Amino acid sequence: MLKVLKFGGSSLANAEQFKKVAQIIKAEPERRYIVASAPGKRFSNDIKVTDLLISCAENNVDKAKEIFKEVEARYNEIIKGLDLDFSLEDDFNTIKNSFGNKNNFDYIVSRGEYLNSKILAKYLNYSFIDTAQCIFFDNAGNVDFAKTYPTIKKMVKNTEYAVFPGFYGAYSNGEVKTFSRGGSDITGSIVAAGVNADIYENWTDVSGLLMVDPRIVKDPKPVEEITYRELRELSYMGATVLHEDAVFPVRKANIPINIRNTNAPLDNGSMIVNEQEKPSKHAIITGIAGTVGFSAIYIEKDRMNGEIGFTRKVLEILEKLNINFEHIPSGIDTMSIVLKTEYIADKKDLILSEINKAVNPDTIYVYDNLALIAVVGHGMQSSKGTASKLFSALANAGINVRMIDQGSSELNIIVGIEEKDYENAIIAIYNKFVFGV
Ligand code: ASP
Repeated sequence: MLKVLKFGGSSLANAEQFKKVAQIIKAEPERRYIVASAPGKRFSNDIKVTDLLISCAENNVDKAKEIFKEVEARYNEIIKGLDLDFSLEDDFNTIKNSFGNKNNFDYIVSRGEYLNSKILAKYLNYSFIDTAQCIFFDNAGNVDFAKTYPTIKKMVKNTEYAVFPGFYGAYSNGEVKTFSRGGSDITGSIVAAGVNADIYENWTDVSGLLMVDPRIVKDPKPVEEITYRELRELSYMGATVLHEDAVFPVRKANIPINIRNTNAPLDNGSMIVNEQEKPSKHAIITGIAGTVGFSAIYIEKDRMNGEIGFTRKVLEILEKLNINFEHIPSGIDTMSIVLKTEYIADKKDLILSEINKAVNPDTIYVYDNLALIAVVGHGMQSSKGTASKLFSALANAGINVRMIDQGSSELNIIVGIEEKDYENAIIAIYNKFVFGV
């Protein structure tokens, strides 16, 4: 059994948290490869080290050095709190020498995980493996897996226990490149796939996913098991627990992810598994998520369904204007295009006139203030009456459904409702599926 563990910024924000992390790692000898984030917030209005480093990278040398004092203090406080005989002074000086050069942006921002991982390696007595030496990007900025995986394998061959800094890798010329924010999740996934781990444990500050947003429903049920696809549907709708790109490397390698809580290590957390492994604890639905801020362009034209190329002509206009859309529910002579309001807010008139020109519809207008709610679960495929339950829940709560879209995989049903009904709709759906009322 081989485990890769990733610890997020709040898990490594101060010496206290480092001690919890070490206890977790040392509890099982299989916990051999660790991916570390930069120190996150210690309290709610604290500043993450990565944000301090971004300020260093954006400012002139003097200002950057001033801000960097705070970064040095964060690390020195951790070193002191762990009673380590260890200094990062040389690294601090190297980093300060890189200030004032815009080309060093990613390098500077990546130092948060680099320094934190060095401390963690020292504290655990693990080796330190720099991800600039084993995670590679091609010139287009994508991870070069063909080069990355064999290098990781080679590097761990004679290294049984190691800490890898998260969040970055390097181009083939050695220049450091970071992932997008929250990217240490991706590093963990790549390292897990690279070393052929049996499991990728992602340690954070919540005990996994909840069935629904806890700001809307009090104490919702935890999700014990969820498939990658369900997770993707839910996180697309705003339920985030993991960087969305973190799923792909482990999913391909068939390695489950276990989301765990550093502050409640006895909780089992959520297990994210492949579709083939029929989740054992599957209820009909796994989760409910939603987002506000959508609009719909409604188009009506007699005999639309006989007019070849109608949809293409409409969609071409969106493509030309570089606008992404979410759904296209359609009738025989009607169609709606659902998209984020922010994408069209300043272009509404232009879009409507272009569509008018292209397809000459009988009616066309935009309506705003739409919320989308996704009800997600593989269990829907095999159980009857899911839709009826969903719509009776909404009807009983007096909520008008403006749009319905069922994914072709029968994995989700998406409903569009008025934004003002958003929270009540979520509560009504949750209560219906969980308590039957
Ligand atoms: N430290 C980086 C960030 O704050 C990456 C990470 O924590 O995953 O986004």
